[in-house]
Amino acid sequence: MNEKTLHKISYGIYIICSINDGKKNGQIANALFQVTATPQVIAVSINKNNLTHEFITKSKVFTVSVLDEQTPMTLIGTFGFKSGKDTDKFKDVSYKIGKTKAPIVLQNTIAYLEAKVIDKIDVGTHTIFIGSIEDSDIVSAGQPMTYEYYHKVKGGYSPKNAPTYSGSSDKKTIQKKEEKNMEKYVCTICGYVYDPETGDPDNGVAQGTTFEDIQKDWVCPVCGATKSAFTIEE
Ligand code: FE
Repeated sequence: MNEKTLHKISYGIYIICSINDGKKNGQIANALFQVTATPQVIAVSINKNNLTHEFITKSKVFTVSVLDEQTPMTLIGTFGFKSGKDTDKFKDVSYKIGKTKAPIVLQNTIAYLEAKVIDKIDVGTHTIFIGSIEDSDIVSAGQPMTYEYYHKVKGGYSPKNAPTYSGSSDKKTIQKKEEKNMEKYVCTICGYVYDPETGDPDNGVAQGTTFEDIQKDWVCPVCGATKSAFTIEE
């Protein structure tokens, strides 16, 4: 069996939102797909440890925002690496309340869907929620961000509750640079890797900036940790 086989499957990057007793929550998900065309039915895999899982189970509704390639890591970090149990994820994010009463993130969203849960499958660590589409619309032009784009261009990793998370093998060893100052630094909190070759243009760090040369108040674009949380990538 070849472990890498599963890496050849394509995924997108979506924000899945739901509501429960007037409280809203959302999270990043990559395992989402259309099941049937008539009627229009989709399915999404959600980790049982996530607050969104509890919300969808109770309210039986969820929304899907399809993110574009320009989505900053901060937005993915807010919804992918922070828990709604500790933070208000919607504080600085544009969204609207949909027909299902669940929130729909509109920021960096090219299209959205709203679904009502019609069935679910218990798959151990995750539940696959199957939903009939109640409403949907295109929000803006743009390319949907694929998981591969997020991984390769944005330097992102799987949150630990993602179906595709595989622990240390997710943080695959990358060839060390011969020049010491061009070394990559990894965030010990979330696994984000700072690569001097790409920099962090979303946050004003130009390509070619060594980790030492990044401004002191720069924080991890994914989880918000300070520079001191970073170590040289082995
Ligand atoms: Fe981080």
